[in-house]
Amino acid sequence: MPVTPLVPDVTAVSRPDGPGHPNLIGLTRDAMRDALIGIGVPEKQARMRTSQLWQWIYQKGAQDFSVMTNLAKAFRGQLAEHFTLARPAITTKQVSMDGTRKYLLRLFDGHEVEAVYIPDENRGTLCISSQVGCTLNCSFCHTGTQNLVRNLSAGEIVAQVMVARDDLDEWPDDSGPVEGRRRITNVVLMGMGEPLYNYENVRDAMHIVMDNEGISISRRRITLSTSGVVPQIERAGQEIGCLLAVSFHATTDAVRDQLVPINKKWNIETLLNTLRAYPRLSNSERITFEYVMLKGINDSDADARRLVALIKGIPAKINLIPFNPWPGSPYQRSDWDRIEAFAEIVNNAGYASPVRTPRGEDIMAACGQLKSASQKARASARK
Ligand code: SAH
Ligand code: SF4
Repeated sequence: MPVTPLVPDVTAVSRPDGPGHPNLIGLTRDAMRDALIGIGVPEKQARMRTSQLWQWIYQKGAQDFSVMTNLAKAFRGQLAEHFTLARPAITTKQVSMDGTRKYLLRLFDGHEVEAVYIPDENRGTLCISSQVGCTLNCSFCHTGTQNLVRNLSAGEIVAQVMVARDDLDEWPDDSGPVEGRRRITNVVLMGMGEPLYNYENVRDAMHIVMDNEGISISRRRITLSTSGVVPQIERAGQEIGCLLAVSFHATTDAVRDQLVPINKKWNIETLLNTLRAYPRLSNSERITFEYVMLKGINDSDADARRLVALIKGIPAKINLIPFNPWPGSPYQRSDWDRIEAFAEIVNNAGYASPVRTPRGEDIMAACGQLKSASQKARASARK
């Protein structure tokens, strides 16, 4: 259901996104202010106009300048002449038996990324992508089999939340504000790509997601998952301040080198030292250690014991992820009793060890199953 009075204003000109027609979605406050000054908005007014625009764009979901009724008509027309608010299009939406929704989104250059909405009893988590593909190639990850196509812009990262809100009908409407009936309560950067290899854009996007005039989701409800890009971890803690998850997955360098090859650059010891220094680390803001359960590879009792010894002293929880297979994947999911035995050792050592229930498996929306059609499309074009 549309939000605001969407009677088109004929004085406003809507144009498609394109060169020389910058998108306002994803601009930092300073960048938007500069952009407005660039089209002749007096410097004294630019801050207030930015704030008004943010409210329309991120709080009300306006898709067109014409609905921004507290801005003068002439100004709305001027905005539409210079800027766009276009969002990526949902090309495919799949809804799983368990309510999980997977969106395939087409970007303006034709590439595609995926975002996944996972509803739970008291919350709803949106899993978003940071890159088209990934430069890393973790051997158990489907995205890793796809080459990096490109980084997403900050706007393309924020827009994933906005498009999901469109689909979930989550913008405020006549029945009142969105608070209290939010469907997206949490955001996780666990889709395609390594967020810390697209650091600036991820940071700017998360600032918009956290801002009270932006999407307004608290930093404690945002989790960034990294494979372990050590030099950017501390900076992320300081500048983004969201929760951190680390794709740990192994307890010896030999095995982690195989599973998460970035380990050859920054090994387990280096990674753990960096995590110990993560700003804000406390019992209420623990680091999540993600640990994919691969049959016969990393799932023994000895692994569980090594794991708890390694992370000693770090406020942490261990998220055990049953491996999600994909076509041609070289691993198998650990048996259920093995996962439980592993979880018990970790638990007895004093760490919460929730097992992540695979969600949306029937639509290949579970962790590590995401892979866009971009590459396949290019391959078939070459043929
Ligand atoms: N690149 C980042 C974030 C995206 S991956 C990272 O690696 O952390 C999100 C999580 O899904 C990571 O913990 C990743 O290791 C895990 N994952 C990848 N492939 C998986 C698979 N096939 N089954 C289960 N988890 C997987
Ligand atoms: Fe990239 Fe993360 Fe997949 Fe590794 S697990 S290939 S870092 S998306």
